[in-house]
Amino acid sequence: MLEVSGLRAGYGRIVGVDDVSLSVKAGELVALLGANGAGKSTILRALSGMITPWSGSVVLDGTKVTGMRSDALVRAGLVHVPEGRRVLPRLTVEENLRLGAFSRKDKHGIGATMEEVFERFGHLAKRRHQKAGTLSGGEQQMLVIGRALMAKPKLLLLDEPSLGLSPRLVQEVFDLIRGLAADGQTVLLVEQNVVQGLKVADRGYVLTTGRVTSTGTAAQLLADPSLVRSYLGGQEDPT
Ligand code: ATP
Repeated sequence: MLEVSGLRAGYGRIVGVDDVSLSVKAGELVALLGANGAGKSTILRALSGMITPWSGSVVLDGTKVTGMRSDALVRAGLVHVPEGRRVLPRLTVEENLRLGAFSRKDKHGIGATMEEVFERFGHLAKRRHQKAGTLSGGEQQMLVIGRALMAKPKLLLLDEPSLGLSPRLVQEVFDLIRGLAADGQTVLLVEQNVVQGLKVADRGYVLTTGRVTSTGTAAQLLADPSLVRSYLGGQEDPT
């Protein structure tokens, strides 16, 4: 579904990612893992047209999409849920969801997709006429994922959906992502918590300062003691 080769991208003179190659097969849930500043978000931004790649190629479902604009990429089936849960606070849950379907030609199918989203995200269904700004952090996260699903993406890019949520909600959000993948949705997930990310993913790529330093199935990466130790070590309280 996605084939990225030799991707370089950054900001002004700052190199965010350098010579990154990765792939995601249809139906796979692949995690991009690594510490703060490793380049994970830069990859998603370069894939979704938020920034223009400096070089490299991006192929989505057999079509070269390198450097295409975000709106064209959404039409091509690539939808990005950036970090930060940006909902439109004064619009209702339903209105926010409807915005996610802007690119669809089959307008008659939008209502059915919305009902599917409500079926998947029960919390949102109860709040469909409520203003999005009144939702909890976890519900807002579900809303931005639901909004992306309204476009019927071939590939869903999720950036740190668990950030800032309580442990219970983190679990709930990861269960929902796993459920999406189980139903065939192809997902590229950015996650700072390496172990948590590998628990839900089929495969992973570990990034260190803008480069892929390790890759394999989730089971292979979880069995790599040096990898898990270095990331768990990084999260331990030094005292
Ligand atoms: P995080 O979890 O903190 O988002 P990340 O792995 O997603 O980490 P990136 O945000 O992709 O990392 O950052 C990669 C590099 O690019 C870092 O050196 C970072 O400081 C830099 N960078 C990221 N965003 C910008 C920006 N808007 N302007 C300038 N430099 C940036």
